[in-house]
Amino acid sequence: MSVFVSGVDGFICKHIVQDLLEQKYNVIGTVRSEAIRDHILKQFGNNPNLILEIVEDISVPNAFDAAIKKHAKEIKYVLHTASPFFFDPKDYVKDLLHPAVQGTKDILEAIKKYAAEYVERVVITSSYAAVMNFDREKDNTNVVNEGSWNPDTWEGCQQNGMRVYCASKAFAEKAAWEFLKENRHAVKFKMSTVNPVFVFGPQQFDEDVRPKLNTSCEIINSLIHRDPAAPFDSNEIYDSFVDVRDVAKAHLIAFQKEETIGQRLIMYNCKFASQDIIDVLNEDFPQLKGKVPVGKPHTGALDHPLKGVVIDNSKTKKLLGFEFIGLKESVHDTAAQVLRHEGKL
Ligand code: NDP
Repeated sequence: MSVFVSGVDGFICKHIVQDLLEQKYNVIGTVRSEAIRDHILKQFGNNPNLILEIVEDISVPNAFDAAIKKHAKEIKYVLHTASPFFFDPKDYVKDLLHPAVQGTKDILEAIKKYAAEYVERVVITSSYAAVMNFDREKDNTNVVNEGSWNPDTWEGCQQNGMRVYCASKAFAEKAAWEFLKENRHAVKFKMSTVNPVFVFGPQQFDEDVRPKLNTSCEIINSLIHRDPAAPFDSNEIYDSFVDVRDVAKAHLIAFQKEETIGQRLIMYNCKFASQDIIDVLNEDFPQLKGKVPVGKPHTGALDHPLKGVVIDNSKTKKLLGFEFIGLKESVHDTAAQVLRHEGKL
């Protein structure tokens, strides 16, 4: 029996695939091109338990049909991770909203059409973006938990790329739960979602370090390469963090445990400010001395009381039952990999 995983070329997804292979699952993944397929198969050492199919664009109707149909009888679990994650779309609907929602509906429709009797569990990689209220992120009287929803509307969210991305995740997740409600007699699978805040941590493979990293790790990468003379505000980013290795682990537990059925798992460890990242860079890597800003050491989120929204994910932590990796370790590992790749470590 296999796990079908969309978006294998993604930052988070490669960690998921690694974990699945380590736990001896057969994996059927999707990637966007043959070149990417060949590259990734090589990265995973041509593991015979990994098969990759091409799904070029999840925003095209019936994109998943061929891959799901081909493997229908083998698929017991489906993890849908593919979705556009960037904040600078040219077209809000075409680049973010449509692919996020269409891709989610499409993979579920394909299961219904071809694998309804085989698929038992589905995990959707949603986001904290589907949980948050964009207008109340700085409000420390705002407490959110696994029952909270991003209230933005399709039209209302279209103010800036970040807000649209967040709403795209909310619409996609809502579409998934609605699909399940409407099709409860047509499919047998149970569903869970994984809803991470900003995800840091090393790429699964050192060679995946590029001049520009995936959207969340680029927050750290851009600070590593920041001109120390340029203006730096300790709080220029003040947000929430979790490590990629924990997010990957959660995707497996999301389909392995009975208790996670129907649950939204908020993957959140702690708040971070740009200053916290800069502090790790200055304290852990002498080769960066004088090459990155110093800011105001230890005035970040780690050393100061919580600001803004309170994220209560105690239910998730209890369900998962493991300790989350800390911010300092995650930033250290992310930066060390970048520096190693650049020959500076
Ligand atoms: P990546 O950008 O690394 O991965 C996204 C993957 O989805 C890529 O493989 C990408 O392919 C693929 N994809 C995007 N659009 C399409 C499309 N139209 N057709 C086919 N494939 C597509 O990001 P992450 O690994 O960080 O994100 C993975 C998931 O986790 C996403 O659903 C994201 O929303 C969610 N998430 C991420 C967080 C984070 O901080 N990293 C936080 C919360 C949620 P390509 O690169 O070729 O376009």
